[in-house]
Amino acid sequence: MGRSIYFFGAGQADGDAQQKDLLGGKGAGLAEMTRLGIPVPPGFTVTTEVCNAYFAAGKVLPAGVEDEIKAAIGRLESLRGAGFGSPEAPLLVSVRSGARASMPGMMDTILNLGLNDEIARGLAQRTGSERFALDAYRRFILAYADIVLGVPRDRFEEALGRARRQAAAKLGVDATRLNSAELERKVPDSALDPESLAALIQRQKDIVLGATGRPFPDDPYAQLWGAIRAVFDSWKNHRAEVYRKMHDIPEAWGTACTVQAMVFGNLGDDSGTGVAFTRDPSTGERRFYGEWLPNAQGEDVVAGVRTPHPLSRSGEGGGGGVDDASSLEARMPAAYAGLVEVQRKLEQHFRDMQDLEFTIQQGELFLLQCRTGKRTGRAAVRIAVEMAKEGLISQREAILRVEPGSIDQLLHPSIDPNAPKDLLARGLPASPGAATGQVVFSADEAERRAGQGRAVILVRSETSPEDIHGMKAARGILTARGGMTSHAAVVARGMGKSCVAGCSAISVSQGRMTVTIYDEHGRATGVITVKDGDLITLDGGTGTVYLGAVPTIPAALSGEFEELMTWADAVRRLRVRANADTPHDARTARNFGAEGIGLCRTEHMFFDEERIQAMREMILADGEVGRRSALAKLLPFQRSDFVGVFREMAGLPVTIRLLDPPLHEFLPQDDAQLQQLSRATGVSVADLQRKSEGLAEYNPMLGHRGCRLAITSPEIYEMQTRAILEAACEVAAAGIEVEPEIMIPLSMTRRELTLTRALVEGVAEKVFAEKGRRVDIRFGTMIELPRAALRAGELAEEAEFFSFGTNDLTQTSLGISRDDAGRFLGAYVEAGIFAKDPFQALDVPGVGELVEIGRDRGRAVRPGLKLGICGEHGGDPSSIAFFERAGLDYVSCSPFRVPVARLAAAQAALAAESSRGPRATD
Ligand code: PEP
Ligand code: MG
Repeated sequence: MGRSIYFFGAGQADGDAQQKDLLGGKGAGLAEMTRLGIPVPPGFTVTTEVCNAYFAAGKVLPAGVEDEIKAAIGRLESLRGAGFGSPEAPLLVSVRSGARASMPGMMDTILNLGLNDEIARGLAQRTGSERFALDAYRRFILAYADIVLGVPRDRFEEALGRARRQAAAKLGVDATRLNSAELERKVPDSALDPESLAALIQRQKDIVLGATGRPFPDDPYAQLWGAIRAVFDSWKNHRAEVYRKMHDIPEAWGTACTVQAMVFGNLGDDSGTGVAFTRDPSTGERRFYGEWLPNAQGEDVVAGVRTPHPLSRSGEGGGGGVDDASSLEARMPAAYAGLVEVQRKLEQHFRDMQDLEFTIQQGELFLLQCRTGKRTGRAAVRIAVEMAKEGLISQREAILRVEPGSIDQLLHPSIDPNAPKDLLARGLPASPGAATGQVVFSADEAERRAGQGRAVILVRSETSPEDIHGMKAARGILTARGGMTSHAAVVARGMGKSCVAGCSAISVSQGRMTVTIYDEHGRATGVITVKDGDLITLDGGTGTVYLGAVPTIPAALSGEFEELMTWADAVRRLRVRANADTPHDARTARNFGAEGIGLCRTEHMFFDEERIQAMREMILADGEVGRRSALAKLLPFQRSDFVGVFREMAGLPVTIRLLDPPLHEFLPQDDAQLQQLSRATGVSVADLQRKSEGLAEYNPMLGHRGCRLAITSPEIYEMQTRAILEAACEVAAAGIEVEPEIMIPLSMTRRELTLTRALVEGVAEKVFAEKGRRVDIRFGTMIELPRAALRAGELAEEAEFFSFGTNDLTQTSLGISRDDAGRFLGAYVEAGIFAKDPFQALDVPGVGELVEIGRDRGRAVRPGLKLGICGEHGGDPSSIAFFERAGLDYVSCSPFRVPVARLAAAQAALAAESSRGPRATD
């Protein structure tokens, strides 16, 4: 282990921005800002290595670390001209966690550490404000008791309520019938006088003594050791674990712990605190954006109890509305100007959008944090493209800046502006996207009902990190309180979920929400009650809440998005096709930039009302003649579908897979359907049941499906081939270029392909003779079975292309049923057996090796063999990175994932290029 402590202060720092692994994002940011000459209160960071050593030793700090910390505190004391534990000139510190990746609100922070009765008196004298000193003290006891001593916060609520009621009596306010929220509004923290605060502090200490059997620790160093341990411990608390899992953050990273001299934003009206972003984190627009609270500590802004004011005079970016006079610019012009200067400097330096936390103590500005700001997918794209155009970053960097998964957010539906809507309330547009669902009032309930497949909207007064699992499960989040940087807003944005925050017209209690309705003049005209289970719709882009379900329309993509995609297309090597079965899906895919169809699942064409009937007749027919006559009815449907698909994909390849699923999937599932089929076919219900039972399989995924159907009943593939080629000839006759590719599913031997190829070529010759024209067709196969990958050499004798069906290939090589995996794969991921669900992210060491074997053996026999992948992994960024490394020709994924795949393919190409060494030019 290297050094344990990295100091920063007075323009010098031991660490820098490159050391996030060791100092966490926060420690690295503070060190770098200090080096840049930005005003930062001095402090030091205890490294992530110390955290890991602490856990390795069974939660014991490594030898010598305490002495190093004491020495660092000594440096802080001399820089601040104050003493840790000195009543005359008290040095108070904050103790904060900070991991390599930002995990907003997930771990613990303790402010105002270093106070006891005597020091609080000294602080009162030094600041001239007894109220301030006692308020800091009672907040410290509360946070310390909760985080370090494990005394639940709600035990203190009652004590605070009592203090408020006492203060209310003094103010002449009748508090007898007020609930706690109303009481807090009438008697805010600032209305608690020194006497009530002193009584409250005593009561808090009694609660601690009662709950822990020990008095609250008076010794500042005892407080400090406890706080540092608690910060390390918080790395392994439940909510941090959930967050890590969601964001793929390894537990082995550990957290750093930063101890920093306190500055106070609550020292009067010339003090304040706030958060800011160098660009709008919601839209990406280039404007300085943020919010602040006068006379407050940082936690007040994040907790969302008070609604903050905008930073700039125009009111832009403010949480609370457009009250110019309350803006920081209007109230403290000098501090505002300083902040504008600092944010410019930081964005130029880091070349990315920054998220800042600042405090103004009696007119003097301090920066407390600087990190790369979280942003919506829309903002990520706009910021990357605009920064590239401003010359701040290169186009390649812009491509790498946007997380492919976040593009999904751009593709989300929005509220149909023309649909009738029942406006319920307005709040802040905290995270874009439209979401409809049943109202639920607790995170647990949100998780439970989402688990039953219901869409839910989580409604809370405000959210806290304890709600994270419910937020994850919900379609959208609505809160009554809090600003644009409140917990709800920040977390929802990160998740890409619709969120309306700070909706002050609603009040939530006891399983219902009451909504005050206002007229256009802002006068309250009535109250509506919304109960658990009622439907509401959120528009996170405008901050609007509607009663009931409102229709939505598909996303419209921005100009910046198109631009980024053009840049991505210029660097990617992998082609991107779509899995599409209908002309409509084909058009969507093409609009999203698909370069062909990689998988057209023909069975999906059989489920229409009229078609399923003929399909069932075919299945039920006793002999080939019966089957052929039923198939003849299906032929025109299939042909017209293919005509539509070929037209949409003019000039691009279309891979059509012949029938794959076992036939019983097409038979009726319930009695009513069975009776209907009996009436239509004249076959008795009993006979139908017998037939259906005869087709049933113990293990349908390994049964009579794929090309095995063609070995027993070639007429099905014959009909399909005829439909494809008649359609191809028809479209070609209209002067449209067609590139049909016929693909055989689930093959494992050469002979299966020899037989099906002869079948396809036989039909082709007939159709071409009938139509008097030829079209080029390619014949290929899916690789979905381990044997197929192993024997790829002989399959390549027949097949001109392979498409890896990684859904089935995962299923068959892991021996895990696709349909049953959900029940236990979660436990496998939890136990660390798989890092991710292998049906979502390819199992590279296992299934990936089969892909490589298939590639090598196939290409050894047929050097030009075209290789693609059409399983769900084709739209998964981490799997795409593998397919790039594996040298496949294309990936194919669902239409809405095509842009994600294009970007992921570009990033994979850039990564491959940089691993080969730098280019001559960038
Ligand atoms: C596959 O198995 O990967 C595949 C694309 O086919 P399906 O999902 O239709 O089985
Ligand atoms: Mg398959």
